[in-house]
Amino acid sequence: MKLVLIGAPAAGKGTQARKLIARYGLAYISTGDMLREEVAKKSELGLNVKSVMASGGLVSDEMIIAIVKERIKEDDCKNGFILDGFPRTVVQAKKLDELIGNIDKAIYINAPDEVMLERITARETCPKCGASYNKIAIPSKVAGICDVCGEKLEQRKDDTLEAGKARLKTFHDQSEPLVEYYNAQGYLFEVDGLKGADNIFNDIAGELGERA
Ligand code: AMP
Repeated sequence: MKLVLIGAPAAGKGTQARKLIARYGLAYISTGDMLREEVAKKSELGLNVKSVMASGGLVSDEMIIAIVKERIKEDDCKNGFILDGFPRTVVQAKKLDELIGNIDKAIYINAPDEVMLERITARETCPKCGASYNKIAIPSKVAGICDVCGEKLEQRKDDTLEAGKARLKTFHDQSEPLVEYYNAQGYLFEVDGLKGADNIFNDIAGELGERA
């Protein structure tokens, strides 16, 4: 099964991706995580994308397509995968179609900007395992420490108010057209992003059924 997750920053794509992997045994591909690893390693790619990521813009289609093209060739993708954060433009979506034929479902987690902005600025992320918390709504058990792996939690560089606003604008300008793109192809499944993580997951799992 090949799934695409679409949604504004902090809509809950990563949370749903983790639940979907556990249920369906799919590979997880987060282009944001992959880019953050490159930034942390200070690789040439990381140095190239660092400032555009921090400001809330998008890295070039060519660059991100090249990364995804290699990633989906890896063994763990043979039984299917979830793409979180890719495609983010219609150009990327068309390229994905060329690379893999067709997807099974594009899941759109729809949520209002005001709530997303609150979530973005309250978010804490584990730099080691990627788990995500919210200082107000879903705090870690011990303040500042990851429940899963015990690592010290951090605020992402692009989870500030200013970068958050820029990312929401980028989403509306460049990524929201994907909703219509996949709707026209009959692959879209839209879910209300304010229902709570478990309810959202139940809706998605209900739509996907027992597929593998
Ligand atoms: P994310 O973790 O998905 O919010 O991604 C963090 C940042 O990485 C984004 O704000 C972009 O700067 C960059 N990025 C991730 N995926 C893509 C993509 N598919 N196309 C362009 N830029 C991306």
